[in-house]
Formats: sequence, structure tokens, C-alpha cells
Amino acid sequence: MLELSTPVQYVKGVGPRIGEVLAAKGIHTVGDLLHYLPFRYEDRLNPRGISELRPGEMATVVGEVRNSGLFRTRSKPIFQLTVGQGRARLRCLWFNATYLQDKFTPGQMIALYGKVEEDQRSRELQIIQPQFEILGDPVDSGENGAEKKVAESLEIGRIVPIYEAIGRLTPRWFRRTIRTALDNLTPDLPEPIPAAVRAHLGLISPRAALWNVHWPEPGESFDALQSWRTPAHIRMIFDELFFVELGMELKRRQQKAQTGIAFRLDDRVRAAIKKILPFHPTPAQKRVLKEIAADMEKPYPMRRLLQGDVGSGKTIVGFEAAIIAIENGCQVALMAPTEILAQQHYFSARRILENAGYRIVLLTGSLEADRKREVRRHIAQGNAQLVIGTHALLEENVEFAKLGLVIVDEQHRFGVLQRLKLMKKSGEASEETYVGTAALGRPAERSSAAGPETGEPDVLVMTATPIPRTLALTLYGDLDLSVLDELPPGRTPIVTRCGADDESPKVWEFVRKQVAAGHQAYVVYPVIAENEESELKAAIKMYRELSGKIFADLKVGLLHGRLDAELKEQVMRMFQRGELQILVATTVIEVGVDVPNATVMVIEHAERFGLAQLHQLRGRIGRGAAKSYCILMTGGKVTEEGQRRLDAMVKTNDGFQIAELDLELRGPGEFFGTRQAGMPSFRVANIIRDAQLLEAAKHEAAAVIAGPNAEISAGEISRALVHMRARWQHTYGLVEVG
Ligand code: ADP
Ligand code: MG
Repeated sequence: MLELSTPVQYVKGVGPRIGEVLAAKGIHTVGDLLHYLPFRYEDRLNPRGISELRPGEMATVVGEVRNSGLFRTRSKPIFQLTVGQGRARLRCLWFNATYLQDKFTPGQMIALYGKVEEDQRSRELQIIQPQFEILGDPVDSGENGAEKKVAESLEIGRIVPIYEAIGRLTPRWFRRTIRTALDNLTPDLPEPIPAAVRAHLGLISPRAALWNVHWPEPGESFDALQSWRTPAHIRMIFDELFFVELGMELKRRQQKAQTGIAFRLDDRVRAAIKKILPFHPTPAQKRVLKEIAADMEKPYPMRRLLQGDVGSGKTIVGFEAAIIAIENGCQVALMAPTEILAQQHYFSARRILENAGYRIVLLTGSLEADRKREVRRHIAQGNAQLVIGTHALLEENVEFAKLGLVIVDEQHRFGVLQRLKLMKKSGEASEETYVGTAALGRPAERSSAAGPETGEPDVLVMTATPIPRTLALTLYGDLDLSVLDELPPGRTPIVTRCGADDESPKVWEFVRKQVAAGHQAYVVYPVIAENEESELKAAIKMYRELSGKIFADLKVGLLHGRLDAELKEQVMRMFQRGELQILVATTVIEVGVDVPNATVMVIEHAERFGLAQLHQLRGRIGRGAAKSYCILMTGGKVTEEGQRRLDAMVKTNDGFQIAELDLELRGPGEFFGTRQAGMPSFRVANIIRDAQLLEAAKHEAAAVIAGPNAEISAGEISRALVHMRARWQHTYGLVEVG
């Protein structure tokens, strides 16, 4: 018998070689395999008769191969196949498909899926490039032999699951292998979801769900199948969301149970904050600071997410929070995802805070060893009050004398693991508060010596990733949420235009005019990790062309990731001071860079950038009162999707609208993948499609974590927690959570 945790190699038909192919897709166990769900289903129980087909519909047709062959037109070879049902015939065409040449034999049964069309000239029905599956070879013995044989197989006479192929593992292979796994699956699967929760949602058993999601019962609604709304789908989706939310809720609970630092916010601290403000905060900034300050005054650690579109003014809010901690005698760490951004924060911190007498240091990976050691000593001795850096701050040998607040800027650029490591550094998630009854109900008891001054630091995470509020609440279930939903006054919306490469003379002329008016410009060139070498060369060549010829009379600088840190800093500083008029840069300027006098951004090969990235880049301009312009240049062919991205940029400046479209274009897996939002991506759930189930899962998880009651027993809770922990480790590779 197979258990869900049995290695997938023990399923018949999976050897070590195939095991490796599956492992590369995250399928290690029988349970993983059974969570590889069909992405659609074909109704081969009631396949369509060819004579009933209508142009424009998507249809599954099962028929017999009559004839096939390749013919060459002037432009390209076309492969044609005729499928028959009795006297009815249907033509299928594939372009450039010489590989299909010897694939079919007359008499074979075949299933086809595709869009039915009417041929312009002959008015006959046809399907162009259908997906197909050969169901069985012709059998000689008598009439209908072929049909009889395949009728017994898994391929016909039922609703058939269609899986995405992985390399040479075809949908058919998955069908058989998953079927074998189900046939040999142990009859007593554990049920980790408490009975009351199951009852609230009407969930079916895990076993029934696994069977039916792969092999739907004949009466199942086809619409429900295609929209993932059968009872089997709902059980699987809820199951996944519930255990993620359970982990989040537990984490949240543990955080609240820890001893934090209750900062005092009195008139003296308020006056200190007022003193540094270079401008009047917006109402949104005031509200958000109030939320943060209220957290900081509490005796347990703050875990807050500050979300605000690019340019909404998050930095100053972070500085204000820093002052609260510093004025209470604590140190503050401010982490940025890139050196450039860390440096920029360092400059503005010095400009804004140093006059007020605060001691600020910068610690990044590229400092010289001597200097690093010295900075570390300042940190360890508590001299440094505000420590700004990159993830070098995560390195083991950075010791703080008294860390009171950690601010993580542009959190979406950090990975999950980094985020966890940081939380760990700030002392959270100590072993004793892990799963077990300690996590339930009563606060974790910590050493009695822990006074308010030695508690866990507060954490403030800042991000520009605009996630709809309910989703953010559910996804970052372990964090409280503040939103900066207002831009500082006096901004004029950025004008965005699209242009092809051959219009560049006009574009350069425009840049020249802006510079003549006293403004500055960015010219951004894509350098993507995969093609780093060649693209970097192209960017440098572009710089030479601009600085040597087109703008020979102007001061042009170059900034890219490969420059050494000192040079980067120098270039950035010159641009900030207006000593450079044009900055040619790669995406190193993507996040956070703030030069309000820059009013033009020309993005070369804009079609190669993702939407979120374009929005981030464009956020570098439009930061001052003067009108700003973003010009998206395209070189070569633009795909349909690329064009939609560019159109979206031209149409709107609103980060939320852009995020929604991005979500639509890329799908939530990619958008909310580990890299973007700091969350593991789901196996079966889709947080857009399943938003309601997500809310339900959060609600139920919170109730479970609250502890035993009339509906839920302590035994059920601890079983759910044990299961949750295993799930987080196995599926998401997160050892430290929950
Ligand atoms: P982001 O939220 O993208 O990090 P920043 O904190 O860099 O935004 O702020 C963007 C720009 O707006 C900066 O130049 C900053 O000085 C300015 N700014 C922020 N808040 C205000 C305000 N209340 N009034 C005027 N300018 C502001
Ligand atoms: Mg910022």
C-alpha cells in the first residue's frame, strides 16, 4: 500500500530516471503526484458527433483516422488528417508539422480537442492545430474491434483528465500512473482538518477528493469541473489554503505572545519627530505613523507591513518610526535590497537626521574589510543609532548592542528565506514557541529577567507591491497592514508614450529640451541575468553613443550592477547633485532611487520588461512638481502580451490597476511567487479564483488557533498543527515557520 509520504519511485511505472524528472517539478512523494491536478477535462463520455459541431465552439471529438498526409504549399508544409465517425468527416490541419508525418495509421481511434472553424472556401468544418491523443491501434478482429478495445481503457467513455505534459511524460502517462497510485493508495488516509471545520464547509473526505479530482464521477457537472468548483476541487483547495493560514495564524499568535519593547511616545519624542520633518506629512502619512506608533507602544513586538505605491513617501515614515526607537535608547536597522538604495537611504538619513544629532552608519557588502570591522564595532558598542545596509546586515557577525526596530524596505525584492532569516535575527521564532500546546492560548513564558528593554525588536516591512487589501491581509497573515493611499501634494501625472526605435532622433531631441530647461533624464537599458554579458555590452555601447555623439555637449553618466561600489556611489551622488544631466542605467535604479529633478525616463527595449518592473522604473520620475515624461522605446518585434503591457503603462499610473493587469497577464503563480510577494506559491489554489475560500480558510484557521472549544477538541488541534508543520516543511521548504 502506498502512503501519501511514500517516495514517488514506489509507484509502478516510475523509476529513478522518471523520478528525477518529477523531482525537478517538485514531485517527490505519492502525495505530490496526486496533487498534480488535471488542468482541464475532456468529456469523452458524450463526445460530440461530427455532424453536430458548430463553428466557433471548443469541442472534443473521438473518431477514427481515415487518412493523413503532408502537402506543401508555397509558404509552408501543412499536415492534414481526416477523422471519421460513420459517414461524417472532419478535417484537421497542422502547419509546419512534418514531425506528424508517420504518426497516424488508418483505423486508429483518436481524440481531438480544439476550436471548430469553417473553411472559407469549401464551407467544411475543420479544426486547426487541435490537441490530439491516439487512443488505440486498429484491431483486425472483426467490426468495431478498435472501438471495443479502447472503450475499456482510461481514455474514453468517461470524463478524462488532461494533464500538462512534463518533458516526455505525456498526459496519458500521468493518467495511468496517477490511476495506479490511487489504486494502491492506503484506504485510511489521515484526516487532519477538524470535524467542525469540515462541517462548516461541507468538505468531502481526502480520499474521495483525490479520486474524484482525477477521475470525476460520470454525473459530475462539466462546468464545475472546468471552473475547479466540484466538491473534490473545493476540498483540495481549501485543504491547501487552510494549512497555510494555520501557519500564519500561529505565527501571528506567537508574535503577540512574545515580549517586545514598549516604547514610550511622549511629548519629547513627538517634538524630536517634528524637528526632522522637511515637509508637512500627508494625511495618509500621519495616519500610518499613528498606526505604527501605537504598535510600538505595545508590550509585544510589532510586525507591520506598510504598503504604498512608488513615490507615496514611505521613507520618511520609516525615519519617524526610527526616531521613536532611538529616542527610547534603542538601535534601528534599515535594510534595503540593493546597495544603491542603501546608499541613497544613507544620504537622505544623513541629510534629514544627522543635523538633529543622530549617529548613522552604512554597512554594505562592498565596504573594505577594515572599515566593515570598524562599523561593526560601532554597532556592537551601541554608538551607531541607525544602521543602514543591505542583507550584509543579516550576516552572522553583525551584533547589535540593543536592537529595537528593524525596517525592511521594498520587501518584495527580498525572498521568503531572507525575510525569515531577518525575523530570526530579530529573535523571533524561538524553538520553544513552536508547534505544541505552548502555542495554544497562553503566552509563551520567557525568562523572568526579560524586562521591557530586552524584548524582541519591532519589525516594519515596507513594500510598493500593490496587493488588494483583503488579499494582503490573508497572504501576509502574520503581519498587520498599513496603507499609504495618497501621493504627496503637487505631483503632476506622468505622461507615458510608446515609440519604435526609428523615432529615437525625435526622442533625443525631446530629452535635450528637458535638459535645457534644467531637468535631468534617465535612459534605461534592460540587462537581464540570462543574457547579462551581451546586454551589458549593448548598454555600454549605447552609453558611448549617447555620451560621445548624441549628447557630446552634455554630462552623461553610466550606472550598472558591475561597477564597483565606490564608483556606483560616486555616479549616483553626481546625478543627485545635478552634476550629471543624463544617466544611462540598467535596472539597478529600479527600486527606490529618488531624484526629484529627473523628469524624463527613456526605456529602451521596453517590451522586454515585466509590467511591475516598468511601473517601478517609471516611479523614479514624477517625484517633483514639474511634469514628467516616460518614453517606452521598442526595438524589433513586440509580442501581443508585450503590447498589452506597454498599452497598460500608457493608459494608467495607478499601481493597483497595473498590478491587476499584471496578475491577469502572468497568473498568480508567478505574480505571488516566492520572488514577488515573499509567499510560497500554491500547488492547487489560485488566490484570485479562490479568494473566497482563502477568506474562509483564514477565518477557520483563526478559530482553530484560538484553542479548544465545544466544537473543536485539543486533540484535533494538535493533529492539525502537526500536519501543518509537516506541510510547510515538505511543500514550501520553510523549516522555520509555524
Ligand atoms: P517611496 O514610497 O516610493 O519610497 P519616497 O519615500 O522615496 O517614496 O518619497 C518620494 C518623494 O516624495 C521623495 O522625494 C520625498 O522626499 C517626497 N515626499 C514624501 N513625503 C512628502 C510630503 N508629505 N510632502 C512632500 N514631499 C514628500
Ligand atoms: Mg522607497
